[in-house]
Amino acid sequence: MPVGAPDFFELDNQLSAVEKGVRSAARSFVEKEVNPIISDCYIEGKFPTDLIPKIAAKGFLGPTLPKKYGGMDLNHVAYGLMLHELEAGDSGIRSFVSVQGALCMYPIYRYGSEEQKMRWLPKMAKGELVGCFGLTEPNAGSDPGGMSTTATKKGDSWEITGRKMWITNGSIADLAVVWAKDSSSGEILGFVVEKGMPGFSAPEIEGKLSLRASRTSELVLDKVNVPDSNRLPEAKGLSGPLSCLNQARFGIAWGTLGLATDCYAEALKYSQERVQFNKPIAQFQLTQKKLVELHTDISLGQIMMLQFGRMKEKDSLRHQHVSMAKMFCCELGLRAARVARSILGGSGILADFHCMRHSQNMESVFTYEGTHEVHELILGREITGLDGFY
Ligand SMILES: Cc1cc2nc3c(=O)[nH]c(=O)nc-3n(C[C@H](O)[C@H](O)[C@H](O)COP(=O)(O)OP(=O)(O)OC[C@H]3O[C@@H](n4cnc5c(N)ncnc54)[C@H](O)[C@@H]3O)c2cc1C
Repeated sequence: MPVGAPDFFELDNQLSAVEKGVRSAARSFVEKEVNPIISDCYIEGKFPTDLIPKIAAKGFLGPTLPKKYGGMDLNHVAYGLMLHELEAGDSGIRSFVSVQGALCMYPIYRYGSEEQKMRWLPKMAKGELVGCFGLTEPNAGSDPGGMSTTATKKGDSWEITGRKMWITNGSIADLAVVWAKDSSSGEILGFVVEKGMPGFSAPEIEGKLSLRASRTSELVLDKVNVPDSNRLPEAKGLSGPLSCLNQARFGIAWGTLGLATDCYAEALKYSQERVQFNKPIAQFQLTQKKLVELHTDISLGQIMMLQFGRMKEKDSLRHQHVSMAKMFCCELGLRAARVARSILGGSGILADFHCMRHSQNMESVFTYEGTHEVHELILGREITGLDGFY
């Protein structure tokens, strides 16, 4: 398992050389490129766009896609380990990679025509084009089927009108996968809206106290004329965007497990070095209880994610499994960050350490891609057969 992580169940033995290689490449990238700059980016509230070509050069964008489209044909465990390491750096970096790969490249790959794939995917893998994913609206968050953005067919093109909210990468994106309702049939369709199309803008959302090293924007679509050749022909209905979210949530679960591990490792080290009452604080039973609980839950999370990754490779991973993973790992990430912060005492609030930044980031990650409650409802329905959503 990843550097600094407990490997209590000896899972490292089960990883292939490729999987370990991807993990260590992501780890070195974080140590060399992310850790030295990320707390300043966070304080300044800026996403480090200079890193995009470097992230792309490492092959982190859309790595599970076929080589023909710029991917690396990676398996899902290798992909998960990569995100584990990137989120140990910062959730903003992992979010950039998740949105580009799972929420923008994936829908083009899954629902696009061959011409669309060749047109956009290789450039996105190289970081030459940045993408975003526009599903959420001001009045449609947990209930995306309630969206009011419409697409009206006008000859060979569509006129799209609506507003999307909370869009990661929005203001730096060259293209946006936008979900809109066909105004005649009510069916949800997917479109690639390109920067510069008249009527399309992406104003930045200011004042975030979480995920500060990430761009979050609105998408404003005011009668944007989008050619039919930019419609994803195979995407029909809510299952289109939900399938993309399922891809992204799998990666988020791996990522937040990495964040939890980074917090645990930071707290363990600090507690062994910090002396109070003439003893390292790690010697106090109350501190040990905190560390033991994190160590146990991180170890259980590793088993879950490795097993789910192997199931995904066999195509037996269902969306309910992904809900459990997102729910479990996000709760763990949030708790680990807060517990680590408490173990670090006053030092824990400083940007020199990671746990406070991770804690603030987790407030967003806990909510996006299906809130914690939404995943509880999905699993509640699975277990009881009764729908608690309505
Ligand atoms: C930083 C950030 C980045 C994001 N990036 C993107 C992006 O790139 N693309 C995108 O499309 N969206 C993005 N989102 C949006 C995100 O997915 C939504 O915020 C999320 O789905 C929740 O929607 P909402 O904020 O409207 O909350 P609401 O849906 O209004 O929920 C508010 C509260 O009510 C609860 N609730 C809602 N329905 C029920 C129910 N049936 N039963 C019980 N409780 C319920 C929720 O769990 C939550 O606690 C992002 C959000 C953030 C904060």
